[in-house]
Amino acid sequence: MTNLLTTIPGPRALEMVDRDTAVMAPCSGRVYPFVMERGQGCEVWDVDGNRYLDLNAGIAVVSTGHSHPRIVAAIQDQAAKFIHMAGTDFYNEPMVKAAEKLTSLMPGDDQWQVFFSNSGTEAVEAAIKLARYNTKRQNIIGFYSSFHGRSYGSLSITASKPYQRRGFFPMMPGVFHAFYANPFHTPWDVDPEEVTRYTLDFIEKTLFTTTTPADDVAAIIAEPIQGEGGYVVPTPGFWAGLRDICDRYGILLIADEVQSGVGRTGKMWAIEHEGIVPDIIASAKGLGSGLPVGAMIARKEIASVWKPGAHGNTYGGNALAMRAVYETLSVVEEELMANANEVGGYFMQRLHELEDRFEHIGDVRGRGLMIGMEFVKDQSTREPHGELANAVMDEAFRRGLLLLTCGKSTIRFCPPLVLSKAQVDEAIDLLADTLEAVGA
Ligand code: PLP
Repeated sequence: MTNLLTTIPGPRALEMVDRDTAVMAPCSGRVYPFVMERGQGCEVWDVDGNRYLDLNAGIAVVSTGHSHPRIVAAIQDQAAKFIHMAGTDFYNEPMVKAAEKLTSLMPGDDQWQVFFSNSGTEAVEAAIKLARYNTKRQNIIGFYSSFHGRSYGSLSITASKPYQRRGFFPMMPGVFHAFYANPFHTPWDVDPEEVTRYTLDFIEKTLFTTTTPADDVAAIIAEPIQGEGGYVVPTPGFWAGLRDICDRYGILLIADEVQSGVGRTGKMWAIEHEGIVPDIIASAKGLGSGLPVGAMIARKEIASVWKPGAHGNTYGGNALAMRAVYETLSVVEEELMANANEVGGYFMQRLHELEDRFEHIGDVRGRGLMIGMEFVKDQSTREPHGELANAVMDEAFRRGLLLLTCGKSTIRFCPPLVLSKAQVDEAIDLLADTLEAVGA
């Protein structure tokens, strides 16, 4: 089926790009000139009337699909009642209902408490601040290739790409980095089964004995599946090992679920695949179906040490965002988590078929509807082929398929969780033609 009415980008899109370039600060690196007009589920239309299949959902944000009727109805209903009444100063039911829903969906048997923010970055900031406040320790351990945000606290832990840090030093003191248990690019020349032990040993036998004593470490923070770093699913036992280290040294364990959470991997939280319960979860992106909202959710015994006024913001708990959170969590719980599991499994199977066909696809990995396809120059060296990943993204756009890259050479698939099997088939056909066209 061809959905394209004009050459891509069309004339109205080009005009919008020019207007944008004149007035928008150039720090955002736009990947290709898609100019949105409207969307429905996994389909979007640009300002020239061209239809695309959207497999990135605004960077894993539009979890329930574009303009899901239940989300639209909730926001419209709330907008007519009241839009905002400072959640840090006053009370309101939409905020309480969203927090009740969110805490009821946390893993394990503990009670949890929430701090609402406006973004993933601020959820991570809140987590770092709570960890320091609670433990009265200063240091934080993060991981290479991680992404946690761009404010100074979160950026100091982010270790994904040099351009994110260039020109911004010095970072926040007290941050140390360890190796993520990446089975495809092992930091040591060892078998994937050994990677877990090496990564954990590095923390305990190198970091703790050289640069940061364990009893100065407030928290270890990691993504259950690294997002910006390349959609990397860690080796089995990595998270259980982190939990064990944290328990033995009195360190808090923070799971940054900003990209992986809210049903995307087929479970409410990606950490549930690991069989452990963290102390703090940072959430955002899919949480509000597109409303700007984040949440730091911590076990109650940890969060409850905060004294009134210790942390706060103006827009956290915004009524429109809260209604979107409640409705999003309900829709995800009722139907979309199961869909992510089923359609994600089918998508993975179809992508593996392409992996068998195209020599530069080095790896296909992921969980649910959080899937990465990594391009390599050579199967034996696994040298990342970033130019090819970019060429795939550009060519797919020109054919009506919206993709995004991550890591050094990975295409990430993080579609709305309403994706159907028929849409997977459509995406696979477009992708296969794309891969042929760019010589993958
Ligand atoms: N943490 C993770 C894992 C992310 O993927 C991101 C954004 O990509 C962030 C934090 C920052 O979130 P935001 O861009 O909403 O501030």
